[in-house]
Amino acid sequence: MSESPAIACPLCQCASSPAFFAGGYKMYRCTACRAAFVHPMPDDLTLKRFYDDFHKSTGAGGWYDEIEDRMRDDFPAKVALIQKEGAAARLLDVGCGKGFFVKACADRGIDAVGVDLSETGVNYAKETLKVQAITGSLHDLKPTLGLFDVVTFWATIEHLSDPIRMLRDIYDVLKPGGRLFCDTGIGDDWLDRLLPGVAQWYDPPQHLFVFSRGGMIKAMEAAGFSVRQIVPGFDRTPLRRWVRKVRGAVLAGGLRFSAALGRMRSGTFTFTRYPLGNLMMVEAVKPLNGAQ
Ligand SMILES: [Zn+2]
Repeated sequence: MSESPAIACPLCQCASSPAFFAGGYKMYRCTACRAAFVHPMPDDLTLKRFYDDFHKSTGAGGWYDEIEDRMRDDFPAKVALIQKEGAAARLLDVGCGKGFFVKACADRGIDAVGVDLSETGVNYAKETLKVQAITGSLHDLKPTLGLFDVVTFWATIEHLSDPIRMLRDIYDVLKPGGRLFCDTGIGDDWLDRLLPGVAQWYDPPQHLFVFSRGGMIKAMEAAGFSVRQIVPGFDRTPLRRWVRKVRGAVLAGGLRFSAALGRMRSGTFTFTRYPLGNLMMVEAVKPLNGAQ
């Protein structure tokens, strides 16, 4: 019998090996860039069904509202980060949801527009928050949007089955020298190496990728960007960042200990995921001489 062909990493094309089973999906880890990804990817219909439920209101059993509310606390720190090197004249927020980040930017004098697949989200942005927002995919909308100084893309890249395709679309709507800011859970950091696959990021089909630092750089470069900085453990204040780090380390140490006990006991050790993973904030630049 011939050996089955190695699964290529979608980010850097190197060989990957099976790493975890999670939620009925198989996850592989790239032997070179150390990113983890679902393989085979769920088909479009499965993802559509999942997101139809996900985007329902909290009362109807959805979870998106709650997640979006939690993310809002970080928005002022994110706007400040973007404005650190002078005001961004024109900003596009990809996956804007109900438009809270677009509003945070508009309040600081930025000409901000949001795009989102969710019509209810965009309607809320336009009617309630009175900000600019458009329904549709960036891929379809990009010929009509013009060019931007900054694109923001929060907590979304890990949900996509083809993240490089989306990064290329973002590249196309940036001016040369324009900046992309995104954030996502970080895999293969100290915490993940201590407790492989236990962070909440390993959660298919919601998350299809868990980016490592190296995998993020590969993905950005494949789309034409150069990575300017990756801030692991980004938080809105330095104090919060340290509190989270210490809490993560204590929790990880405790879990590691109980995992060791679990293995000593007979029977099955149950694999549980914990909300202790770290985030990374990525800033990438479209080169001044980049192809348009
Ligand atoms: Zn790779």
